[in-house]
Amino acid sequence: MASKIINGTEYAAAIRAKLSDFINSRRPESTPPPHMAVVLVGENPASLVYIKNKRNDCEEIGIKFTLHCLPKTATQQEVLAAVHELNNNPDVNGILVQQPLPAHIDTHKIIMSIDPEKDVDCLHPNNLGLVAMGQAHLLPCTPSGIVSLLKQESIEISGKHAVIVGRSGVVGKPLAFMLLEENATVTVCHSKTQNLSEICRSADILVAAIGQPKFITADFVKEGAVVIDVGVNRQSKKLCGDVDFENIAPKASHITPVPGGVGPMTRATLMQNCVKAWEKQNV
Ligand code: NAP
Repeated sequence: MASKIINGTEYAAAIRAKLSDFINSRRPESTPPPHMAVVLVGENPASLVYIKNKRNDCEEIGIKFTLHCLPKTATQQEVLAAVHELNNNPDVNGILVQQPLPAHIDTHKIIMSIDPEKDVDCLHPNNLGLVAMGQAHLLPCTPSGIVSLLKQESIEISGKHAVIVGRSGVVGKPLAFMLLEENATVTVCHSKTQNLSEICRSADILVAAIGQPKFITADFVKEGAVVIDVGVNRQSKKLCGDVDFENIAPKASHITPVPGGVGPMTRATLMQNCVKAWEKQNV
């Protein structure tokens, strides 16, 4: 079976265009445009690339973007104070604290300090709790990007067996809730799962969010399954996913590439969250 390669880059561009139209059509003269504030502690090179991409997306859509840099020696109190100031700034609609934070900073405490109404990364427990209840306003970026891709491709989710490999708080767990909400039967696997390849072979929709290059090989995949690769790994200076794309593509009905699959959709959801937060804060 020749598989359909899902083009996340194209779908994400369409979402950005819609957001841009939405802002232009809904913004009264007196209301400032949406504003996303990013807090960066230190100068992690990967973080700088991610931030540049976010800035570009914001500029394309018409979202104001500001970057708030702290040195890598900043204390927990200083990072909390930066978030607090943005929470209290009515001009800021969305706040994102770029991860990873330096080891001496308690990431959980920083996330807890973000105003849930401005939590465009959807990491605050209030927002994740609403995701679990199927009542979310702001959506977890990567899981929502994945569900959007499945819907855009008209892939049936209801009644299907979705297997997620990876149980992180940003991908695996919230995705499980979102797929349950779409009436999938969901299995979440992790490093202690036994008979992993057998469980994966029973998947109609297989999601890999592991962080190990080409971990999922062709013998993990049922003929005709949908394969979603969340992984972003660097192998001999090239990006690759958690899925052995070359050998799985001929077997899968649909597959996402890395790059150009889930990544752009994650960023598109972030932009959607910022516009949603802006709309809610300006009603
Ligand atoms: P993470 O927090 O490190 O979680 C990795 C998960 O994989 C854990 O649940 C871990 O199990 C599981 N795992 C590790 N080795 C395994 C094994 N041998 N068998 C089964 N499960 C195993 O990672 P993450 O933040 O979810 O990210 C995963 C990957 O996705 C990374 O490559 C990351 O860069 C990428 N990512 C991409 C996007 C995007 O937009 N494209 C967004 C987020 C993340 P345990 O819980 O038992 O340790």
